[in-house]
Parts: sequence; C-alpha cells; structure tokens
Amino acid sequence: MGQVGGAARSLVRVSDPGPTSRPLADRFGRVHRDLRISVTDRCNFRCTYCMPAEGMDWHPRDHLLTFEELRRVATVCVERFGFDSIRLTGGEPTVRAGLPVLVEQLAALPVDLSLTTNGSTLAAQAGPLRSAGLDRLNISLDSLRADRFEALTRRDELPRVLDGIRAAVAAGFDPVKVNVVVVRGVNDDEIVDFARFGRDEGVTVRFIEFMPLDAEQRWSHEQVVPSAEIVAAIDSVFPTEPVQRGSDPAERHRYLDGGGEVGVIGTVTEPFCSSCDRVRLTADGQLRACLFATDETDLRALLREGGSDDDLADAIARTVGAKWAGHGISNVTFTRPARSMSEIGG
Ligand code: SAM
Ligand code: SF4
Repeated sequence: MGQVGGAARSLVRVSDPGPTSRPLADRFGRVHRDLRISVTDRCNFRCTYCMPAEGMDWHPRDHLLTFEELRRVATVCVERFGFDSIRLTGGEPTVRAGLPVLVEQLAALPVDLSLTTNGSTLAAQAGPLRSAGLDRLNISLDSLRADRFEALTRRDELPRVLDGIRAAVAAGFDPVKVNVVVVRGVNDDEIVDFARFGRDEGVTVRFIEFMPLDAEQRWSHEQVVPSAEIVAAIDSVFPTEPVQRGSDPAERHRYLDGGGEVGVIGTVTEPFCSSCDRVRLTADGQLRACLFATDETDLRALLREGGSDDDLADAIARTVGAKWAGHGISNVTFTRPARSMSEIGG
C-alpha cells in the first residue's frame, strides 16, 4: 500500500474502509478488491496486437470521467467494499493531462496504487508519479530489437522505452515489472533474451499470452504461445522453481541462482478466472465485471444524473453479482467483447 510502499513522501490517508464496509462477493464466492481504471482510450503507440494503424474512434473528451468522478467511484469501492488495490491503465495513461494530480488524489486512499504504461514518457514522468504517491509500475515492452519494436508498435521509440524503464528503477519503484505479450512467429524467439534482460536490469519480466482483444480481430489460437512453453524455454537456460501464487494472475518462478523472478500470465491456456478479484472501469465510465464481459453498467450516467454513493454502490454490487464463472475463450460459444483491449483498459 502507498504508505508502506516507499513513496517519496509520507501520505495522509483521507479515507479508510468504514464500519459499513462489506466484502463484494459474487455468485461464486469470489471477493472483489481490485479496481482497474482506464483513464483514457487514446495512445501514442499503435501496437499491432492492440490497435489498427489508423481509424480508431476516440471518445469525445466530455465522455471521459473527470478526476473528481474517478475519485468518487474509487472511494465508494474502498469505503463500501474494502477494495485494497487500484491500477491505472488505458489506452496509454500517461497521455492523460495531469495524471500525477489524479495519482495524488487516489494515493490518499488506503490502496496499493499501480500504473500500466508503455514507458515512452517515463524518463520525464517516473519521478513525478513516484512523488505523487504511485506505489508500483508495470511497463509493456514486446521486443528488444529496434526494427522489430518499430514494426510492432509502429513507432521508432525503443531507446525511449528503455530509458523509461531505467528511470522507473532509478525513481525507486521496486519491483519494476516489464510485461511482454508473446505472439507466435512474431517475438517468441526473444523469450530467453527477455529473461536475460530482466536479470541484467533488475526488473521482473512477465510474459502474457496473446488474447482475442485486438481491435483488428486477427487473433487466432495458433498465435498463442502457452505459458508452459515459455517457462520451459526459460528453464532450459536459467533454471527456476515455482513460487506460491496467491491471487496474482501471474504464475511466478524464481531463478535458482538468485537472479530474481519471472512470471507468466496464461489467460488463454491456464485461465485464473476462479480467483479473479477485479472489476474494470472504462475511460467513458462503464463498469465491467470481466475483461471479456459483453455487458457493462453505465456509471457515468449515474454520476452525471445525480446518483448518490448508495446508488453507485448498488450498481457496482449488481455488476459483480452478475459476473460469470469464466471467459471460456476456448469454448466454441465464446463471443469476443465489442471493445478492444485499449478501449477496455488492460
Ligand atoms: N498502454 C499501456 C501499455 O501498453 O502498457 C496500458 C494499456 S495496454 C492495453 C495494457 C496491457 O495490455 C499491455 O501490457 C499490453 O501489452 C496488453 N495487451 C494489449 N492488447 C493485448 C492482447 N490482445 N493480448 C494480450 N495483451 C494485450
Ligand atoms: Fe497503446 Fe498499450 Fe495498446 Fe500498445 S498496448 S497500442 S501502448 S494501449
């Protein structure tokens, strides 16, 4: 949590889970404590597995929740339901103007506050975000080769992202996690290179299976590199042992020689739906009980039509109450959500 996470200044918490706080359980007994907030659908990259090169329809600015609205939803989750974790994401969250101000507001809540970013602005922003009270950083990077990085992101910015990762470490974020989406035939020959990179740079690399959430709908099962295959590739060069998992979606492995940890997130081949504790708020204020949900609850309308905190809490509880058992990506009946990853918030 922020106050013990080593943030650069001491924080005064303005809100604690109140006496009326009750666990937010769904029909399957999963208690929800983790809120993912997308602060924008826009991005300065165009990763091929996420967005098309052109033609994304951005939300009009006035459809995005304001910082005050975001803080209100977050506070209801913490005070009414005892949420203890908030992650900011997008789109690219660091392109939202004034992000450190939002971080400072949310850091006043008794939560572990984290951010997922493509890292391109961190050379300048890591320090201010740390000072504002951000606890943890995940940085996405899918190739260590400049030409491949450019082909994947459609931007020639590998040096900026590497500088950003180093700035995050220098700013005191510990651990810094580097997320790698592995796509068969695209970057699966860099798995060991990334493991070595993590060990050399003192960051925790986590490999993510490619999910059917790309805007261009080109995903296929054949492009998914199973977590077990990723671990085997690493193990053959840098032997590891498994670490106790908890509610973390990442399966963690520790290097036997003390070189740190590596993780795999097997959403497709090893779904962790049975321990999922997350809800997601899109940048335009729609609450989703699952990354793959096909329905949403319009919290923006509630916020802007004078809804009370009780109304918000009821809407959040109803959404979680209707959550399904799992996404069923591998079932023939699986239906892709209408929104892509960058529109939902990964
Ligand atoms: N722009 C930020 C970033 O790239 O870290 C935050 C938003 S991005 C949508 C969040 C995470 O989702 C990133 O780690 C990204 O690599 C991942 N992602 C995007 N599309 C994906 C897909 N189709 N399958 C798996 N992961 C995906
Ligand atoms: Fe942007 Fe992140 Fe999607 Fe890449 S993965 S296009 S950086 S939102």
